[in-house]
Amino acid sequence: MVTNTLENSFDAIIIGAGISGMYQLYKLRELGMSVRVFETGTGVGGTWYWNRYPGCRFDSESYSYGYSFSEEVLQEWSWSEHFAPQPETLRYLNYVADKFDIRDDIQFNSRVKRATYDETSNQWRVELDDGTEAEARFLISATGPLSAPTLPKVPGIDSFTGESFHTSRWPQDPDGFGGKQFDFSGKRIGVVGTGATGVQVIQEIAKTAGELLVFQRNPNWCAPLHNSPITDEQQAEIKAGYGEIFQTCRDSFASFMHTWDERSALEVTAEEREALFEELYAAPGFAIWLANFHDILINPEANAMISEFVANKIRGRVNDPELAEKLIPKNHGFGLRRVPMETHYFEVYNQSNVRLVDLRETPIEQVNASGIKTTAEQHDLDMIIYATGFDAVSGALNRIEIRGEGGQKLKDKWADGPRTYLGIQSAGFPNFFTLVGPHNAASFCNIPRCIEQNVEWVTDVLAHMRDKQLINIKPDQSAEETWTQQVLDDAEQTLFPTADSWFMGVNQNVADKKRTFMLYVSGSETYRKKCDEVAANDYEGFALR
Ligand SMILES: Cc1cc2nc3c(=O)[nH]c(=O)nc-3n(C[C@H](O)[C@H](O)[C@H](O)COP(=O)(O)OP(=O)(O)OC[C@H]3O[C@@H](n4cnc5c(N)ncnc54)[C@H](O)[C@@H]3O)c2cc1C
Repeated sequence: MVTNTLENSFDAIIIGAGISGMYQLYKLRELGMSVRVFETGTGVGGTWYWNRYPGCRFDSESYSYGYSFSEEVLQEWSWSEHFAPQPETLRYLNYVADKFDIRDDIQFNSRVKRATYDETSNQWRVELDDGTEAEARFLISATGPLSAPTLPKVPGIDSFTGESFHTSRWPQDPDGFGGKQFDFSGKRIGVVGTGATGVQVIQEIAKTAGELLVFQRNPNWCAPLHNSPITDEQQAEIKAGYGEIFQTCRDSFASFMHTWDERSALEVTAEEREALFEELYAAPGFAIWLANFHDILINPEANAMISEFVANKIRGRVNDPELAEKLIPKNHGFGLRRVPMETHYFEVYNQSNVRLVDLRETPIEQVNASGIKTTAEQHDLDMIIYATGFDAVSGALNRIEIRGEGGQKLKDKWADGPRTYLGIQSAGFPNFFTLVGPHNAASFCNIPRCIEQNVEWVTDVLAHMRDKQLINIKPDQSAEETWTQQVLDDAEQTLFPTADSWFMGVNQNVADKKRTFMLYVSGSETYRKKCDEVAANDYEGFALR
């Protein structure tokens, strides 16, 4: 048990016990380091611990998402569906934690509020919400790209007297890995938000809700998930074929099981184009997004073609033509924001118990004791579900007061956008590593694939430092500037900057966030090669002493 003294001294402190923090702990233990993980929640799993809302599931193929480092885990664990639901994923992560017996080094119920670098001792001093302090030479954030929930900025949000939850704070099922079950029948439920989470929750609750009101600010380009159970035969193939599965991920743009069609959408005939679009629309997962013509995200004409194709699909699925138009995005092209994967989502709008409230026509004026009041009318509700997303990528880091050399705050340094080297360190913050940080390929990836790369790279640096008896690592200013500029220039080669999205740091509920590209779009394999090259060149761009 950690006490209130600086006897709490470790070689490394990790913040967060999701997939990143768990694996980093496992790897540093292998190096023989003393490690403490601090985690706000009461259990492991991160995203899959917090997001227990009805309908929550993967849009990565399950077997492409699990850890790849242990053959035993790969063979022992059997995913039940191609896109597993949240309780199964959380059960999986608990099984991994048990198998490697990692819980002893994790302190739950422990939110890190401050981390300060002490230049004299070359130590990071970490402070928890309850005032407990600990210190370590190395600080590693594993705080997650989508873990800092945001609520809409509307007056009266606390005055509602019914039940209301942000989807990532859905109450837990006390007896299992999922969320608390509610009986929605006969109830009037309001869902605010129609991003990836909103879509999952809407299509699930629409099955039983007395009345479901969907408060939509911006429609998104949703596409069918085509989930299905994994048969025994498929299970055997998956277990025998993990090598190939991970190689496919490794060779693909974003480490998913989908690789670009190398042709341009413009170089084929209209029939060929339509045929591929149809094939991908009928294929599972992100195929329509990431196995499409390679130029749909970089060429406006190609993008317009796929957008029109998907728009027509929506028109074909929603009975009321006027309503269909409201569900079709008009302010950005297909794939330029994260594509929500759906199962009969558009068909729910043909049901008599579902109603769309278009907030562009009638914005919310206030939340009050009995429900939501828009500029047009009062909607009395029994429950409000906020599927309003996250302060993405840098949000969880910004919620910690992180001070580096000269007392500089990371949040201030990044006020005009993140500045990093390899998305893994920031100048002026020695010995601090950001797993799945901004401008790191892991932020636009089938994330565990990139997490493993991030963690193994950091582990290798620390092993190198131990072997060479080095105690301090930080990026050169010039390496940071070059990397940051390169990331932003690469983004400009795509259409992503044309859309307001969390990729661009846009969240209307976070007032002071600058609009700038937050991810890395040159592909996870390019990123891996760059990281390997830097390591091979004696950690070029980093100053080590
Ligand atoms: C609903 C949902 C579905 C998703 N589906 C997919 C998918 O299908 N495929 C995919 O690739 N990605 C998906 N993602 C992205 C997902 O976040 C990553 O795949 C992955 O779980 C990230 O793991 P992580 O360990 O880096 O972060 P997280 O899982 O977010 O874990 C971070 C942990 O850090 C803790 N933490 C944060 N701040 C502090 C602090 N100050 N002190 C202490 N602890 C702290 C949090 O409590 C959390 O437990 C999804 C995200 C969401 C929200």
